[in-house]
Amino acid sequence: MKRIAIVEDNRDNRLLLRAIIDDRYELVEYATGRVALDAIRSDPPDLILLDISLPEMDGTEVLRRLRSDSTLARIPAIALTAHAMRGVRERLLAEGFDAYVVKPIVDEEALLETIARLLDTSVAGDTLSDSPAIPPNQAATPSNERDGPQGDGK
Ligand code: MN
Repeated sequence: MKRIAIVEDNRDNRLLLRAIIDDRYELVEYATGRVALDAIRSDPPDLILLDISLPEMDGTEVLRRLRSDSTLARIPAIALTAHAMRGVRERLLAEGFDAYVVKPIVDEEALLETIARLLDTSVAGDTLSDSPAIPPNQAATPSNERDGPQGDGK
């Protein structure tokens, strides 16, 4: 069974992700970037779900460190972000994320399809569509959620 690392400081979000993903993949959960980096380096997962807004070290920095490590650089990474503003998707993809998902997660199937696509791509070629987890028109919808360093911990 493929193994997915969830790096997310919000317990409710971790529970939700586990509920969506649990019966299809083996999950490991980390609440901070530093703990996740140490664990991922010693035992790399097949895919990483990475929250952008994390205490101490944000998800963008975690990804930067993963991508600069030759043994970890190719692990597919999906950004989790409460930001749904225009341009966020482009920025996250430019930073090296393979896909992104906007919280709160409303389309469970889209998340599962994105995970399946990235896992398939990494071993046996791309068999599914190349669409993002959230359609661009939906992703561009302004959100009231805060996800900054001084945010609500989501
Ligand atoms: Mn967070």
